[in-house]
Amino acid sequence: MIEEHLDFNLLRKCADCGACYNVCPSCLYIEGYDPRAVIKDILKGDFEKWLHSEHIWQCLECHQCLELCYQHYGFENAMTAMRLLATKKGIHPAQVKRGWDMFVKTGRLGEPAMGQRKRLGLPEPKKSGKEEFLKLLAIYKERKAQEKNRGEAEL
Ligand code: SF4
Ligand code: SF4
Repeated sequence: MIEEHLDFNLLRKCADCGACYNVCPSCLYIEGYDPRAVIKDILKGDFEKWLHSEHIWQCLECHQCLELCYQHYGFENAMTAMRLLATKKGIHPAQVKRGWDMFVKTGRLGEPAMGQRKRLGLPEPKKSGKEEFLKLLAIYKERKAQEKNRGEAEL
């Protein structure tokens, strides 16, 4: 399950290190946000409770921890893996689903404010790449369905 998404050897070293706490903006400014606690629980196999916590959604994906990390691994990977798992289980904030729906519909996470752009003299935004994205999504879904059918046939 979570092991598929994380390298436990690197995560163990991260649990012993903890240096990023002092450069992580979320650690410094959001009360209760502490990937060190999440990582310790992941290593103990006691991470389920964090799937319901708002803290796993408070990582800004700013990459500060990855850039500083001597093993280029740590806080961010753990938080990303937790969010992925929560999403697979359907335990995600409503905004995540809204963002996904918007992305599938428009190829963007928000529509450019054309009036504002015009006022500021900004050029027309580039095409979003929505069509290409939808083709890739269709291929992905087809492959997943094939894998599922193969798995069921082998049972
Ligand atoms: S990526 Fe997330 S965990 Fe890493 S420093 Fe930024 S906010 Fe903190
Ligand atoms: S991400 Fe890297 S530098 Fe940060 S606490 Fe973990 S091992 Fe240490």
